[in-house]
Amino acid sequence: MKRLKPFEYREPNTLGEAIEILIGEGPRALPLAGGTDLLVRMKQGVVAPSLLVNLKRIAGLDRIERSAAGGMTIGPLTPIAAVERSESLRQSYPVLIQAAGLLGSPSIRRLATLGGNVGRASPAADMVPALIALKARIFAEGPAGENEIPIDAFFKGPGSTVLAPAEIITAIFLPDPAPAAGAAYLKLGRREGMDCALVGVAAALSLGRGDRVVEARLAIASCGPVPLRTESAEAVLLAGPLDEDRLREAARATAGNSCPITDMRACSDYRKEMVEVLAYRALRAAWQTARRSR
Ligand SMILES: Cc1cc2nc3c(=O)[nH]c(=O)nc-3n(C[C@H](O)[C@H](O)[C@H](O)COP(=O)(O)OP(=O)(O)OC[C@H]3O[C@@H](n4cnc5c(N)ncnc54)[C@H](O)[C@@H]3O)c2cc1C
Repeated sequence: MKRLKPFEYREPNTLGEAIEILIGEGPRALPLAGGTDLLVRMKQGVVAPSLLVNLKRIAGLDRIERSAAGGMTIGPLTPIAAVERSESLRQSYPVLIQAAGLLGSPSIRRLATLGGNVGRASPAADMVPALIALKARIFAEGPAGENEIPIDAFFKGPGSTVLAPAEIITAIFLPDPAPAAGAAYLKLGRREGMDCALVGVAAALSLGRGDRVVEARLAIASCGPVPLRTESAEAVLLAGPLDEDRLREAARATAGNSCPITDMRACSDYRKEMVEVLAYRALRAAWQTARRSR
């Protein structure tokens, strides 16, 4: 059985204290949220932090609340299971509930947090394509103060983000959805539960007059070094009224934007084909929801 290497462990009560501890220890200290990813990678010897700073005692990091100026704020320590059962999120951002329901298993979802899913920066993260489709913004706090980052500019590479050393995600903000909007997240795994995405596609669009798309966002998981926004597919959707041909063209463009790898789970060509299939289905579902919500 693999064992964890010894490490120091702290449970600060405030964000300021957590940042101070992280600064003091340097890059070998890491924030700990649900631990479903970090502790596994530590056991595997992939990472070996000398100090874990558990964020769970810091008040207010697990809230889901509507902002007075519009939109909703989700604390990074919010468990995926709490996202999944949140009525207010279900009403305004059902695509997030869909993604949450596809992550891991019920027991993983009780521990795993939204901030951990974002902070891990895995190209296969299930919550991230939905957050990109919803135009989420990441709020972080660190030695230089507060920072606000659009989620599609947050990831630098596998396991790497634009966060500075000792910077902690403090909130994930979702702007209000547009009128006549719809979104969907679809995931293909080798089995139904407990599996990372071979491919994941989130699509969001809002309609103006007729079937004219006024805004579109598409994002894909497991198709490149970071979760990718596929802007050329969005351009196809914005170029004219939505119909079956345009849906198919946008799905092809999404696959064209993807650059998946071949690994032991699937080859690149298969993944690309599946991106097109899932993009078409996600777009179709988003279109139907947008029409119904008018
Ligand atoms: C059996 C199993 C199945 C899984 N299935 C899936 C799946 O289907 N889809 C999927 O997307 N993931 C899956 N995962 C991975 C993992 O559960 C998720 O990514 C989860 O959301 C991570 O959240 P966490 O709270 O456990 O993060 P942790 O493990 O605590 O942390 C993950 C990383 O994020 C950093 N971090 C955490 N919080 C913050 C913060 N506030 N600010 C800055 N950095 C932070 C940590 O330092 C660490 O590097 C699975 C894991 C397991 C063990």
